[in-house]
Amino acid sequence: ADASRARISTSEEGDDSQIIRQVAEHYSSRSNQTREEREASPIIHLKKLNNWIKSVLIHLYARRGDAVLDLGCGKGGDLIKWDKANISYYVGVDIAEGSIEDARNRYNGDTDHAQNRKVFSFPARLVCADCYEVPLDEALKDVPQFDVCSCQFTLHYSWSTEERARQALHNVTSMLLPGGTFIGTMPDANVIVRKLRDADGLEFGNSVYRVEFDDKYSEKRFMGLPFGIQYHFHLEDAVDCPEWLVPFSKFVALAEEYGLELVMKQNFHEFVHQYIQKLEFGELMRKLGALGDGTEGNTISDDEWEAAYIYLVFVFRKKGTPKLR
Ligand code: SAM
Repeated sequence: ADASRARISTSEEGDDSQIIRQVAEHYSSRSNQTREEREASPIIHLKKLNNWIKSVLIHLYARRGDAVLDLGCGKGGDLIKWDKANISYYVGVDIAEGSIEDARNRYNGDTDHAQNRKVFSFPARLVCADCYEVPLDEALKDVPQFDVCSCQFTLHYSWSTEERARQALHNVTSMLLPGGTFIGTMPDANVIVRKLRDADGLEFGNSVYRVEFDDKYSEKRFMGLPFGIQYHFHLEDAVDCPEWLVPFSKFVALAEEYGLELVMKQNFHEFVHQYIQKLEFGELMRKLGALGDGTEGNTISDDEWEAAYIYLVFVFRKKGTPKLR
């Protein structure tokens, strides 16, 4: 049944390569911001919160000496987090040429802030490719399998068709060692659908984000299509492009087909409430200034906190027994 539904979805959308190019161009064209520009961002506390969440995830699930594959690595914003985790090797892949160029510069220390030049303690390879189209096990044949695969704020770009979602999961599982860990963050489709139900029309949002569906939405939901449910996402100073809903139960069922078992799933709010209680993570939150110092204008705004509710954290484990190292 799923295969025939996917066919309907593909023929309805026609060739989606143009939309995929739109996503790549959107991210490619986003220029690097200076420290001052970053601090002036209307979503500065949300960005810091996202960084805290990714840092905690990495701390919880990566071990010293791990080899890491970062799918949709963007401008390499997580390189420092992986350095702190004392990993042994890193491969980052992204569809956006401009982002890969920025990530290479960041890794090589060629940034605007030469005084903050960072020397990373692990070798890295940065590759420009469509992770949801290209079989990475063939493209990266010479690379040994990985202990961790990380997919931060990017997996939802694979749910335009069943073929792409399957290629994404094939890539994750074929690149992971048995017992390897698959971690990520992505929009929480349950929250989005609930908000849409309460909305007046086909859109909702606040001063920092907006989600807009087109009128094909109800038709597709009615047909129970799990793939190709597209919306336009705008996040102030960050994202402005098409995205696709990832119904979580379908994601878990499909991942299972690829030998990936769900370990945990939490909405960002739940994750923050749980891990902020732990001393070291609470301290990291204070250091990053994600929640600010509580004074007005220097704390996460209600609108940013609501935008955080749009996302979830997931962890899967590839079946099999890990080799002792
Ligand atoms: N992971 C980074 C982070 O957490 O900062 C970047 C997240 S950004 C919101 C989403 C990234 O996914 C962009 O860099 C974009 O180019 C990348 N992306 C989208 N579709 C992709 C695809 N088909 N293959 C590889 N990367 C893709």
